[in-house]
Amino acid sequence: MASHIVGYPRMGPKRELKFALESFWDGKSTADDLQKVATDLRHSIWKQMADAGIKYIPSNTFSYYDQVLDTTAMLGAVPERYNFTGGEIGFDIYFSMARGNASVPAMEMTKWFDTNYHFIVPELGPNTKFSYSSHKPVSEYKEAKALGIETVPVLIGPVTYLLLSKPAKGVEKSFSPLSLLGSILPIYKEVIAELKAAGASWIQFDEPTLVMDLESHQLEAFTKAYTELESSLSGLNVLAETYFADVPPEAYKTITALKSISGFGFDLVRGTKTLDLVKSAGFPAGKYLFAGVVDGRNIWANDLASSISTLETLEAIVGKDKLVVSTSCSLMHTAVDLVNETKLDSEIKSWLAFAAQKVVEVNALAKALAGQKDEAFFSANAAAQASRKSSPRVTNEEVQKAAAALKGSDHRRATNVSARLDAQQKKLNLPILPTTTIGSFPQTMDLRRVRREYKANKISEEEYVKAIKEEISKVVKLQEELDIDVLVHGEPERNDMVEYFGEQLSGFAFTVNGWVQSYGSRCVKPPIIYGDVSRPKAMTVFWSKMAQSMTARPMKGMLTGPVTILNWSFVRNDQPRFETCYQIALAIKKEVEDLEAAGIQVIQIDEAALREGLPLRKSEQAFYLDWAVHSFRITNCGVQDTTQIHTHMCYSNFNDIIHSIINMDADVITIENSRSDEKLLSVFREGVKYGAGIGPGVYDIHSPRIPSTEEIADRINKMLAVLETNILWVNPDCGLKTRKYAEVKPALTNMVAAAKLLRTQL
Ligand code: GLN
Ligand code: ZN
Repeated sequence: MASHIVGYPRMGPKRELKFALESFWDGKSTADDLQKVATDLRHSIWKQMADAGIKYIPSNTFSYYDQVLDTTAMLGAVPERYNFTGGEIGFDIYFSMARGNASVPAMEMTKWFDTNYHFIVPELGPNTKFSYSSHKPVSEYKEAKALGIETVPVLIGPVTYLLLSKPAKGVEKSFSPLSLLGSILPIYKEVIAELKAAGASWIQFDEPTLVMDLESHQLEAFTKAYTELESSLSGLNVLAETYFADVPPEAYKTITALKSISGFGFDLVRGTKTLDLVKSAGFPAGKYLFAGVVDGRNIWANDLASSISTLETLEAIVGKDKLVVSTSCSLMHTAVDLVNETKLDSEIKSWLAFAAQKVVEVNALAKALAGQKDEAFFSANAAAQASRKSSPRVTNEEVQKAAAALKGSDHRRATNVSARLDAQQKKLNLPILPTTTIGSFPQTMDLRRVRREYKANKISEEEYVKAIKEEISKVVKLQEELDIDVLVHGEPERNDMVEYFGEQLSGFAFTVNGWVQSYGSRCVKPPIIYGDVSRPKAMTVFWSKMAQSMTARPMKGMLTGPVTILNWSFVRNDQPRFETCYQIALAIKKEVEDLEAAGIQVIQIDEAALREGLPLRKSEQAFYLDWAVHSFRITNCGVQDTTQIHTHMCYSNFNDIIHSIINMDADVITIENSRSDEKLLSVFREGVKYGAGIGPGVYDIHSPRIPSTEEIADRINKMLAVLETNILWVNPDCGLKTRKYAEVKPALTNMVAAAKLLRTQL
């Protein structure tokens, strides 16, 4: 029985690659320094897998920035603006595409399927010239070979690559990148030939788009591609790897019929129907099935006994020598190594497995199936599974009961939104085009230091409260000076919008080094939700009340919503996600009610990550949206009409979920709008019908640029052409935390001036 790993985190156990990249970008170290760090990381990863006993070890899963960008480089598909003139693509062009440079902007970035990883979107057009311009897959293969380690080079498959591409600027929007299949296959052939010549015996094509709802012409492209590649691939074993969901029956039929493919990788964690499909549809004789039973997207130790039973079922279908134990997807979506978690409680630690531990699990499963079961390892695992099931820190009967009672019921405010807005206006007395901000104000070095010192017990609680109070007071005064209508306290006590709440809720644990790559050198450290969630005491009331006492203007209470807390955490896998979400919703509901009781009249509940939890398959989306939106409504269904509930969302593509957003039934929705006015038009129109207040960001906070009053007024005017005056709010498009005061002050000054200017004209 063989073992295989789909891919491995490249950042390093302590984010070594991040620091090497950032120092190189800052000109503080050389390309050689960067390459040295990268080489060391690759070597240690390969050695680690080889030592663990993994048979099929991936190569070319390392990347300096992104694996899709690597493929763009391999194909030489560099957009014109980077002036690529041929030859091997170096750091210069590569990082310009990734990050832009002084004269040209970066390529666009978007989410990799339903993960929190972002890839660089290829820009293609009918005139794109392809040439073999990065030999990285071959050089990594050779590099491992020189260490005596045989690897499986991994390429993003040609069809997935094209399906993830978009028409380049200036190219008709209707242009289909898939039409370029015939132009990119020759490059793939060159790569394959070189890998063969270098001695590769397996090659892995990642084709995760196979799990999507594809149209028949898209499925046909797979047949076309792999038929065309057949002669080049002869003599090689070819693995078609899928992940993140089930392969739908049609797609399964299509790919299992392909002659050039010798093995198929399936995600048996998120793909809950795959096992039945293989059972009922059968599996082609003589081919390999790579069974992704070890979860690449979570941090839980595998339930080895249950995996063995799945694997035995599959073994009976495909044959002993044709089943390979694998991970559900690349391990890059989980944390790197549990050994660096020195602060985690030992019981919780026994329930976890990060990438390094998952490699060991995969190998242990493969050996057990081959009759060499490591009894000690399996019994330790069984004991950990049992302790997780019975641990009193996991279960809270009261929370379970309250959450179960929510299922199937509805929670909604009693009055409709127009009536509520009227009641609120009587109390709040806001001008038309009211101004506000999204919550955070610049986080200075001093502020970060104060928080750090308090956490490390270096300053007393008293000193900490005093420092934060001073900061809040500064932020309040500034907003009064700027003449903003609805104020915020600026979130100086928060390090992160999810961590801050997680730290105060029961059922959450935190890692020291549990980083996961988000994009480029950026990593996130999601909290771990291991148990039933409850709120021992109020979390934000102290600060919000203090801030409100400093001003006569309305002060917005600021909370993170349940769906966002869920989607930005590692979530327990022993109950459905919606149950965990309902539990968080109940905790936030208590906070909302405490804020209201403390005299806070406007409460913003951020749902920045609502859309990113949307399942990949259409058939599953309605269910998700239903419980996600329900969870949001649970948090605020109990407030009085006069309490104004805001929500904020960061993404701009709402078109397909607009009805769900309306169904959240918030009084005011602020959204990101900086880059895509036109896309949002339809959303605005729905908003008009709906009647809620809408605040489409009037300037982009992601850039240091300061927008002029005219520019902002112009933007507001465009919105007024579509929206009724009385529902429009004026605000930046997200929190100001990453900006400097030198940018924020003039930008907000201009924003308020624009609102005032337009008020006089209406
Ligand atoms: N209230 C948060 C802030 O202003 C919202 C951040 C977000 O939407 N990502 O920072
Ligand atoms: Zn935002």
